Amino acid sequence: MSAFIEPIGRLINQFTKLPGVGTKTAQRYAYKIINMTDDEVKEFAESIIRAKNEVKYCSVCGNFTDKDVCDVCQTRDCSTICVVKEPKDVLAMEKAHEFKGVYHVLHGTISPMEGVTPNDIKIKELLARIAQGGVKEVIMATNPDVEGEATAMYISSLIKPLGIKVSRLAHGIPIGSELEYADEITLSRAILDRKEI
Ligand SMILES: [Zn+2]
Repeated sequence: MSAFIEPIGRLINQFTKLPGVGTKTAQRYAYKIINMTDDEVKEFAESIIRAKNEVKYCSVCGNFTDKDVCDVCQTRDCSTICVVKEPKDVLAMEKAHEFKGVYHVLHGTISPMEGVTPNDIKIKELLARIAQGGVKEVIMATNPDVEGEATAMYISSLIKPLGIKVSRLAHGIPIGSELEYADEITLSRAILDRKEI
């Protein structure tokens, strides 16, 4: 069925596994690779293997790092923890340049529809961090969709009784959208105008 010789067809097939890459783009990528020098191809392939081997989760916040504890956890104000769904949300928050505290990545949100319970995401880890003391405020920055709201409320119900301030990003981020698509100004305003919950 394929118009491509097997090695090219296989390479195209690998590229189509990437988000946002359709067949046409995958073909362009494949031909680009074939036209690279041997050294360039080697460096390209090694970068993929190295990233996979060396990138791990920070043992404190759960964000991507190549160390045991990430730079943010090592250098920033640990009294404020911003709770997000995924590592890419940390990137979105950092681009807004407004938040000076540390993060906690949940690696998911509670979703009864998809069978994701509180035990399936990193809530225990968050509570353990808080139990170590020194935390004054937890900012819930999960997405403004049903799962994100439910997760924020659930975590708030666990943390507020401990006497810790819990806040939620202000609205302005379109309901049902994802943090990563909010522009930097909207996001920095949402952080500044956060509401206690
Ligand atoms: Zn960290």
